[in-house]
Amino acid sequence: MSSLHNLLEKASSGGRLSFEEGVRIYKEADLHELGMAAHARRMQLHPSNVVTYVIDTTINYTNVCNVHCTFCAFFRPEKHGEGYTMSHDTVLERVKFAADQGASQIMIQGGVNPEIRLDWFEALFRRVASEYPNVDIHSLSVSEVIGLSRVEAMPIRDVLLRLKAAGMKSLPGAGAEILVERVRKRISARKVKPDEWLGVMREAQLVGFPTTATMMFGSIETDEERIEHMHVLRDLQDETGGFTAFIPWYYVPYKTPLRGKESTGLEYLRVLAVSRLYMDNFPHLQASWLTPGLKLGQLALFYGCDDMGGTILEEQVVHDAGSTNAATRRDLELAITGAGFVPQIRDTYWNLRNDVALATAS
Ligand code: SF4
Repeated sequence: MSSLHNLLEKASSGGRLSFEEGVRIYKEADLHELGMAAHARRMQLHPSNVVTYVIDTTINYTNVCNVHCTFCAFFRPEKHGEGYTMSHDTVLERVKFAADQGASQIMIQGGVNPEIRLDWFEALFRRVASEYPNVDIHSLSVSEVIGLSRVEAMPIRDVLLRLKAAGMKSLPGAGAEILVERVRKRISARKVKPDEWLGVMREAQLVGFPTTATMMFGSIETDEERIEHMHVLRDLQDETGGFTAFIPWYYVPYKTPLRGKESTGLEYLRVLAVSRLYMDNFPHLQASWLTPGLKLGQLALFYGCDDMGGTILEEQVVHDAGSTNAATRRDLELAITGAGFVPQIRDTYWNLRNDVALATAS
């Protein structure tokens, strides 16, 4: 059996870890040694001290949802008095607010609301694309796409093609949580199964959408199930090469039906480092500062991350669960420079946006 040192050395230079080896480094490796190996791998993949971020926002257009995940404090069941769906004009106002601050990406995401049909999204995306041609519609989630496919009785591929024709540019990796059936039965029993999530992502990549992949950890999963999640994503990436980034983030338990304990900072850093080492075919690893906060997001840059995510000018889902974190563009840039890196604005496709000035440049 290889020593832990040999495993970290192999992974830090791009060698592939088996499932058992991934579990072993997750459970047994020293956190600092994991971080050093992950950072070495990050520097091998991106040999500069640039850390990217995107100016973006999340617009949670409806909180009505028929999926009822136990880790979610945001949704309201159908007919609930606190349920809302924004009008197109309201969504457009939010897009304008973000575009005025230089946003190049908007994430229009919400519950799986069976009252909202495909033509509602088509009309909305057409308006956004025509009024804000410089803003990429990086929107919806696998669950919402499957919801549309069911309500329209239409194949997934056709739903995706219609959304693409209306102006959608990429599909975020939301709703993956942990792609292990045992976990999903407990936290999101009515949500898509692991194979369905992967199947929609495969279709999205085949029709030409760039996609990301997330992992919401810290609910009820075991260490082995975290590696299993990474494993199935790594397999799909081998097949399609369609993921731009992996974004692990942790569950915020304070106001959810599931409750539980919040992950620690050390656990967050361990997940990041193992992700960077295990997911050898993912180009980017994103620090998701929204749940752990910007100070831990800054540390994440030494545990394999080369990207600071987005400014997230507004967001409701994680805040409803009890997160109070927020950051301005200036905050993000200062966190990056404070750690000795150089901030660089990018777009959804990781093109560098040298035409947009840094907030700290003025
Ligand atoms: S996480 Fe998404 S799919 Fe699950 S209940 Fe909340 S809004 Fe609905």
